[in-house]
Amino acid sequence: MEIKRILFPTDFSEGSDNALPYAVDMAKNYGAKLYVIHVIQDIAQMTGWYVPHVSMDELAKDIEAGAKKEMDRYGIEQLRGVKDIERSVLKGTPNDEIIKFASENKMDMIVIGTHGRKGLDRVIFGSTAERVVRDAPCPVLSVRLPVHAAKK
Ligand code: AMP
Repeated sequence: MEIKRILFPTDFSEGSDNALPYAVDMAKNYGAKLYVIHVIQDIAQMTGWYVPHVSMDELAKDIEAGAKKEMDRYGIEQLRGVKDIERSVLKGTPNDEIIKFASENKMDMIVIGTHGRKGLDRVIFGSTAERVVRDAPCPVLSVRLPVHAAKK
């Protein structure tokens, strides 16, 4: 088994924070490159409200800037010791972009949390982890929150 490229998608939630040590340990043990990605969802889909085009553009820019900032500082402590890390912020539907990234960049493994951000968006979009497990071109390690922390 060769694991040289590991994909870790994060929505910056507790669920993905909980999965991060597995991705980090695996990258260290296999000497693999770790790809950390975040997907910005389409804001029209996120809000479902009519928002004038100009303010939508402003909002999209703010969201992108915020996501890039978050990505730059994400997991600084935990990722120490991983030799090769690539961070990317993508746009689209999270599960589709995760699968596309994994296919195009020939990932050997995906490490993903089973819980993401709570609330309405989960009801609307359904489970990213479930879809990634179903459609991934490589093995997926899905990491649950400890029972006491998981709400469902
Ligand atoms: P969910 O299935 O939406 O509850 O999310 C489960 C996991 O999917 C999270 O812990 C993340 O690892 C990943 N995930 C969800 N949304 C995104 C996103 N927008 N970008 C990257 N990864 C995501």
